[in-house]
Order: sequence, then C-alpha cells, then structure tokens
Amino acid sequence: MVAKEKDILEPSLEVLGISPYKQKKTEEYMSSKMQEHFKSILMALRQRILEGGDKIVTHMKEEAINYPDPNDRASQEEDFRLELRTRDRERKLLKKIEESLELLREKDYGYCEVCGVEIGLRRLEARPTATLCIDCKTLDEIKEKQQKQEEEY
Ligand SMILES: [Zn+2]
Repeated sequence: MVAKEKDILEPSLEVLGISPYKQKKTEEYMSSKMQEHFKSILMALRQRILEGGDKIVTHMKEEAINYPDPNDRASQEEDFRLELRTRDRERKLLKKIEESLELLREKDYGYCEVCGVEIGLRRLEARPTATLCIDCKTLDEIKEKQQKQEEEY
C-alpha cells in the first residue's frame, strides 16, 4: 500500500504525538515556550517526512517487477507517477520547514510576512509552515485563481 500523501504531508498534531498548546491568559504570543512548541512540531514533521520518504522509495523498489499484463503495467506506472509527485511535494515542504525553523531562530516565526499580524496559534498548529495570516492567504488564493483564469483565455 502506498503511503497516503495527506498523512505524510498534513498530519494532525495527534499523529505527530504533540498536544495542542495551552496558552495562559497572561502569556504573550510567541513566548519562548510557544516557540519551543512549534520547534517540536516542525522537527516532528520533518522527521515524519524523511521516514515516509524512505518508505516510498523502498516500496518503488519492491514493486518494480515486470507485469506481463499491459493494464497492470499502466496502473503501476500511474502509482509511480503519484509517488514521484508526492516526493516532489515533500521536497518543497521540507524546504518550507527549514525556512520556518530559520524564522524561529530569528524570532520572526508566527507573523504574517505580508501584513505583519499574528498568524495565530491554532492556524499554525494546523499548518506549521504558514507564513501568511488567513486574510492574506485568502486574498492570495483569489489572485491566484484570477491569474489562472486569465491565462486560460
Ligand atoms: Zn496578513
């Protein structure tokens, strides 16, 4: 069975074995304790991708048998294509994780890179490599969609 793309690329905190952060009322955003929390998440995520990646390569080697039936061969090729695409997305995500860890080191982590507001604890827990607040992200997606539509004409 192919490792599920979503499980590797977007695991929940539960899957990573990390409890949601409980922010104290008086605690400021991105306190050193909170920074540690996100560092753990990012490290666990990186670990998981690296391990998952190995699994996929092993899987590809194991499955690389010649199927005499062309239909089997086609579906095998489709599987491999899917896996390669997952690998590509993993590579990109790993890069984003490195960038997020760098932001943590520079104490810039957790703030929108466009407007500078706090991205927010819960949003970052769901998407630890987010660099945009939800408003800027939504705007970004709308622009992207418009661009795509314009290109189609
Ligand atoms: Zn923003």
